[in-house]
Amino acid sequence: MQLNKEILEKFISPDNSNRESVQETISKLTSQILDFLTDASNYSPYPAFTRFTDPYFTIPDLPKKDVQLTESVKEILAHSMNAANPKYIGHMDSIPTLWSILGDYLASAINNNLLSLEMSPFLTQLEYSITKQFSTLFGLPDASGGILLSGGTLSNLQALIVARNEVLHTPNGNCFSLQKEPVIIASEHAHASIQKIAMLLGIGRENVVKVKTTQDAKMDIADLEYQVTNLLASGKQPFAIVATAGTTVSGTIDSLLDISALAKKYSLWVHIDAIYGGALIFSQKYTHLLAGIEHADSISFNPQKWLFVAKTCSMVLFRDFQNMVKSFQVAAPYMKAQPEFINLGEISIQGTKKAEVLKLWLSLTSIGKQGYEQLIDYNLHLTKIFTEELSKRTYLKVSSQPELNIVCFRGEPEYIGDHAYDQWNEQLQGYLLKNAGYFISLPTYKNNVWLRVVLLNPFFKKEHINVLFEHIDAFEKTYR
Ligand SMILES: *Cc1c(COP(=O)(O)O)cnc(C)c1O
Repeated sequence: MQLNKEILEKFISPDNSNRESVQETISKLTSQILDFLTDASNYSPYPAFTRFTDPYFTIPDLPKKDVQLTESVKEILAHSMNAANPKYIGHMDSIPTLWSILGDYLASAINNNLLSLEMSPFLTQLEYSITKQFSTLFGLPDASGGILLSGGTLSNLQALIVARNEVLHTPNGNCFSLQKEPVIIASEHAHASIQKIAMLLGIGRENVVKVKTTQDAKMDIADLEYQVTNLLASGKQPFAIVATAGTTVSGTIDSLLDISALAKKYSLWVHIDAIYGGALIFSQKYTHLLAGIEHADSISFNPQKWLFVAKTCSMVLFRDFQNMVKSFQVAAPYMKAQPEFINLGEISIQGTKKAEVLKLWLSLTSIGKQGYEQLIDYNLHLTKIFTEELSKRTYLKVSSQPELNIVCFRGEPEYIGDHAYDQWNEQLQGYLLKNAGYFISLPTYKNNVWLRVVLLNPFFKKEHINVLFEHIDAFEKTYR
């Protein structure tokens, strides 16, 4: 049997027989992408929702020509969320650095597998080196290290699996022999992934005990200690405290020093979800906000958020890397054991894994630590200006004083009753999108509707803030 030539054309032939046509396809796609991204300011950050009914998505019986595929790229671009527009300030979704896009492309092209050293001889070493450097940047000791995972939820999951195995002495993960119900303690504003993780660990969502927060949205340390002692007295077994460095809604950083001291006092694991705020390690001016992170037993961090790396890219770091290996490793019999560079697939939730480290490393290399410092300081500078503008308006209030480049706020104009505040804010969000082209998000926070901006786009400028507030003021006037 021989393969149809038309099918072989769908691969890059290793004998140089289709280079020209491949090059043409790649150039065409590249042009389409660039046509869109270099003009992204002129496309709405939030395209109107179009319902695509089948057969649009139907898998064809016969192969399609490359030109037919590039036709649908137009459609894909036109109907996608457009975070490249600087007025997209609604979520933690950054525009990717050029080299993270290229790194993803390169990683797909060589298609190595981070499962094992023999399947990715260069890239496995790279992942070990990069995660080690991040461990050091976070102030963890020499014995620390980590791995990359495809998203923060997985990073939090692996940290808490190891925490459970270590603290509850369940090295093979069997919880059924435990006399007491295991509990995770986290702030009421901790990320929703902690609840999923409780389900995955088999401890149940009800065993994520939520600690109250203070006015400034930080975990209340007195309540934290109360919860710990209360759980112990009631015959439960807390094993980990999850502190957050940069909550998703308001970018708040818990008091990491106090929390780690308390965790030590009760011999609990302290996991720091620095998935968003961890980027501050690159800013000399602001890194002090992470004080105490160096005491963590584990840290999760997402370069896919504030390091502008294309999704997905996350990491989990452990204070004692060898201990993590001891408590988590499942050897793969079909892989040659690697004593120096343990096959990453044996010590990671994921098996086969894309070389997400490549786009991270290329981004870091092309921008440098100082470049990242500039980006982060710039975002924080603009957040100050934004917050100042907010405070000039008595009808607006912040949920808590912003610490990062996230501002959660809402209008509470006195001429409407507080029963109508939610509606007012919802309408303002729609008004800003329709009349000014700004996309800001509308989180529910403390049972109310709030507005939220994440000032992440490097092309977002002070002028954007001025124009945005002009529109907010105009809306406020029309509503009177
Ligand atoms: C985004 C986020 C997560 C989850 O990360 P994913 O990559 O979306 O799985 C967890 N914690 C915090 C604080 C986050 O902001």
